[in-house]
Amino acid sequence: MAVGVPRRTLSLCPDCNREAVEGVIGGQASLADFRDRPGIIEAEILEEAGRILMRKACEKHGPFEDVLSNHPAFFKRMESLGFGKDFNCAGDELVHSHGANSIRTGRDTYLIVDLTNRCNMFCSPCYMDANAAGYVHELDMQDVTGVFERAKSFKPQREINVLFSGGEATLSPIFLDAIQHAKSVGFHRLHVATNGIRFAQEREFAVRARAAGLHGVYLQFDGVTEEKNSHRGLGNYTEIKRRALDNIAAAGMAARSKDRQSCHGSKAGDSFVRDGDLSPID
Ligand code: SF4
Ligand SMILES: [Zn+2]
Repeated sequence: MAVGVPRRTLSLCPDCNREAVEGVIGGQASLADFRDRPGIIEAEILEEAGRILMRKACEKHGPFEDVLSNHPAFFKRMESLGFGKDFNCAGDELVHSHGANSIRTGRDTYLIVDLTNRCNMFCSPCYMDANAAGYVHELDMQDVTGVFERAKSFKPQREINVLFSGGEATLSPIFLDAIQHAKSVGFHRLHVATNGIRFAQEREFAVRARAAGLHGVYLQFDGVTEEKNSHRGLGNYTEIKRRALDNIAAAGMAARSKDRQSCHGSKAGDSFVRDGDLSPID
């Protein structure tokens, strides 16, 4: 992976990408078309006025600018810690063939399986635009079996973590079966990224998830105060988190916090578990 600022890179034109996605959904384009032409354009990553920016211009849709970081020193430090290239994979055509976005070397630590685009919350913004699409996209067991078959199909293999996500993965009707299947084919580090509502509602659900093979829970957090939750456009539901944590712990699983906007990421926000309870940190 190229690092350093400034540098040239490739990115997506959001409008071209949307058109390409809609082309596949509407049946005018094939997945192969999308793989080869997802809307890639050239971009530049640069530092300006204390921020790391990405600038790009599409011939059809004009210029775009995104803020990648408001802390250039931190951005550069994180890039310097990147694993970089380690080994080339063999027999990975089914898994790593994504046109210009193909992964060419193995350093995967997480296999993320998005089970559904539905969610029982309506955060604003949502990192996945859950509930925003006019359609439900949900994996069935045949899809899940295929995902894990492909994940095991190439060499070399290493122990990887599986993260079931979404949307809200616990709403998937096959959530428990998917965990069980992953375990049965040899994946043991199984996690879910969740807002915790289902775990709070039903201790039995947490127990069944544990019995199916779930190892840990990435629990979404913005903070424990009204202020820290207000930008979401929903109430402060710290009490629900407490109940979810109780049930998760009672089922024998570990919980980590994750911020809401990057449900795949992990960040403490302004709260963490101390002495078995949620405490604000300054
Ligand atoms: S950010 Fe997470 S919890 Fe909120 S609506 Fe999106 S998927 Fe659901
Ligand atoms: Zn464009």
